[in-house]
Amino acid sequence: MDFATFQLPGGYIDEGGTLHREVEVAPLSGREEEFLANKQVKGAAALVTTVLSRCVRRIGTMSPVNEVMVRNLLVADRQYLLLKVRELTFGENVQANIFCPWPDCGARVDIDFSMGDIPIRESAQKGPVYRMDLSEDAAIVDGQGLKHKEVLFRLPNGTDQEVVSPLLRDNEAKALSTLLGRCVLGVGYMKNPGDELVRMLSPLARMEIEKEMEAVAPAVDLIMGAKCPECGREFSIPFDLQDFFFGELKISVDLLYREVHYLAYHYHWGEREIMEMSREKRRRYIEVLADEIERLNNAV
Ligand SMILES: [Zn+2]
Repeated sequence: MDFATFQLPGGYIDEGGTLHREVEVAPLSGREEEFLANKQVKGAAALVTTVLSRCVRRIGTMSPVNEVMVRNLLVADRQYLLLKVRELTFGENVQANIFCPWPDCGARVDIDFSMGDIPIRESAQKGPVYRMDLSEDAAIVDGQGLKHKEVLFRLPNGTDQEVVSPLLRDNEAKALSTLLGRCVLGVGYMKNPGDELVRMLSPLARMEIEKEMEAVAPAVDLIMGAKCPECGREFSIPFDLQDFFFGELKISVDLLYREVHYLAYHYHWGEREIMEMSREKRRRYIEVLADEIERLNNAV
């Protein structure tokens, strides 16, 4: 399969306000697998941008797709696309290890699932700007004693992720404030987004805004249910798709070189041609070869 088409759970709204939902996605080629396995970038969000800008061929009527467009995609749409790239490149099945979250246990737990079973929730309203009212208690009171309840916001996108994810490790509270400052576009008549606006929001107001954002956003549900074979307790844990996929790429690069060697050896194709193939295509040729070799052996 050279590419496949899907519908984004959120969608891309262009500068003219048109919503684009159909996307064309290609698997990684061997060359891209190699490039990504060896690439050093700051933060997983930047790596997701790199992957998607290479594999997403079209968004609605917009083609080619560049990094700026990929950064403009909503967080859930990026996750969804990464799922599809992984599925097209390595197949639907995922076998991974997680650790039992109970501090007195911590045993390794094998999980096994199909990407097709991951629940995807489409967003009902497409934005790009959403409005909501804060509750009476959460309203902001200005210098004149006037109450402001109306909040305008947009949903977090790839650029926000790239800005916020390096902060997340050191200072989670600061990262969340930064994110809110970027996404809250105005409260009442105050239309200057940024830190100052966020500082005016009470914890209750922040919570109400975050809840509403979650309610209107599309979602890829990566919370996995599992049962620990050691202690027998059931738990749910977020599955880190990015970590898993990038780890998988690093591990499979050795195999990639072996496959390239095998195909070059038997078919006398050049490295460059083979590296342009997707894994699925390499595997298909390897299967044909295996059948052929078996047939020859049986004929002797
Ligand atoms: Zn356990």
